[in-house]
Amino acid sequence: MFNRFPTDPNPQANDTPMPTELNEQDRKHFRSLLEARRKTLLDETREILLEQQDEHFVDLAGRVHDLEEESVADLLVDLHIADMERHIDELYDIENALRRIEQQTYGECVDCSVPIDKPRLEAYPTAKRCLPCQQRHEQTHAGNRHPTL
Ligand SMILES: [Zn+2]
Repeated sequence: MFNRFPTDPNPQANDTPMPTELNEQDRKHFRSLLEARRKTLLDETREILLEQQDEHFVDLAGRVHDLEEESVADLLVDLHIADMERHIDELYDIENALRRIEQQTYGECVDCSVPIDKPRLEAYPTAKRCLPCQQRHEQTHAGNRHPTL
């Protein structure tokens, strides 16, 4: 029931054409994708809170939809509810992506500033790196547990 955006597909699976910068219509499109996903996550979060059978959580559940201006993720992270960790991570990603849309930096790789190609954003609207940078990022982080040096 907790549908997520598909995780980053195998980055080597397809040769992508030259990326192009997003226009206003693209930004609107991706914003509506992100906002719809955010609403779904908030609805699920609300259900989880209501299932807690705890007055404090029920009160929070009532407030979740009134938190347009605040970061919902910041509120939820204080609750330490294991079921919500994935939601919280994704809400952070979505809120950051929406902020990048506002700042007109959405769709640019945060590492190298090259436009991320649209099929990648379509499959993975919270993507903040182009494929080569994402691969480098994952390799860097994958090595942390077993340092070879
Ligand atoms: Zn990059």
